[in-house]
Amino acid sequence: MRFLSFAVNPPGRRPGVSMNAPAASTAVAPQLAGLPLIRTLVGFDTTSRESNLALIHWVRDYLAREGIESQLTFDDERRKANLFATLPAQSGETMRGGIVLSGHSDVVPVDGQPWDRPPFEATVVGDKLYGRGVTDMKSFSAIALSFVPELLRRGLARPLHIALSYDEEVGCIGARRMLADVVARGVKPAGCIVGEPSGMQVVVAHKGKRGYRCRVRGHEAHSALTPLGVNAIQTASELVNFLAQMARRFRERGGFDAGYDVPYTTVHTGVIRGGTALNIVPRDCSFDFEFRHLPFDDPEHLLAEVKRFAATLLPEMHAVDPHTHIEFDALSSLPGFDSHGGTEIAELGKACAGTVEFGKVSFGSEASLFHNADIPAIICGPGHIAQAHQPNEWVTLEQLALCETFMRRLADQVCAA
Ligand SMILES: [Zn+2]
Repeated sequence: MRFLSFAVNPPGRRPGVSMNAPAASTAVAPQLAGLPLIRTLVGFDTTSRESNLALIHWVRDYLAREGIESQLTFDDERRKANLFATLPAQSGETMRGGIVLSGHSDVVPVDGQPWDRPPFEATVVGDKLYGRGVTDMKSFSAIALSFVPELLRRGLARPLHIALSYDEEVGCIGARRMLADVVARGVKPAGCIVGEPSGMQVVVAHKGKRGYRCRVRGHEAHSALTPLGVNAIQTASELVNFLAQMARRFRERGGFDAGYDVPYTTVHTGVIRGGTALNIVPRDCSFDFEFRHLPFDDPEHLLAEVKRFAATLLPEMHAVDPHTHIEFDALSSLPGFDSHGGTEIAELGKACAGTVEFGKVSFGSEASLFHNADIPAIICGPGHIAQAHQPNEWVTLEQLALCETFMRRLADQVCAA
């Protein structure tokens, strides 16, 4: 996942009180059946810019040895693939009523980060496992895969699907193609567990995100003759200031959902570029901004509000040069979702996590894409988002043990015997 704010605040809890604190800590390092598989997956450098095919082919071959066929869907260059595999129910059912265990195969870069140990080796030190992706989010996928032989031996009462995507970290790109294929093939899972790091708490909602680039084209002039020019930086700064006012309005007046650590829609400008020299009225300025919106705030309305304000700046610009303009490019989009916990998969997740509560998070994930494909989804995975994307990314062995407990309870729920 790409977004770093995080809290799990169940209804009735004080915002800011995190459920992330580990439960009673285990004195002895837990026995982790999934550790060898975690080491294997972490060993593949699947930084999003690289091909993930070595990892995908390894998983395909691992499942094939268990008699399970994988469906691969590729990106346009066939450098990357999603994997979707189905463990059939004993009845032979493969299409309907199954549970998806979903993870992304890619990780964020380690470039420029001060790592104390090789990032693409999962290393146990004390009560923690270190390595790129141990939290976000290869451990969940590996532990799910490690249960496949047991699930097949016991026999399933309903299908179980393994879903591994590419390019989650650069905009949840692969999962869209995988889901289109799943829908086209008529597979209708009953629910999906996305194993993003949630401290093994059940998360039933997350915010949506829209990213945009605004490009302001002004008119160059000698800076001694500013009335003959249109200053693109100044126009852009009026727009940036308008966004800041929107952000303030949401912070002060909402809408609010106290389930989130940041309980309102946020607006943020992250990059700005403009101008060439102090003695030139700048012709061009562009800036990138984003909305992280509560699921009930319509992001189209947010952009429309910015565009309406931009339109008020144009007459003054056009009076100097009719070719000046303000344009908006969409950079990224990820829907929010809120299932309000009222789904079978949320109940199943709570039973497996051994909790009666659920939470909401500010970061985006593939869960909303499953949700929008009519596959009810929750997020539940080991580790915490605060450790994601960091140098020396780590997860506690205790979290991994909790994930294995979760998977064992899930096996009891979905197995025929
Ligand atoms: Zn992730």
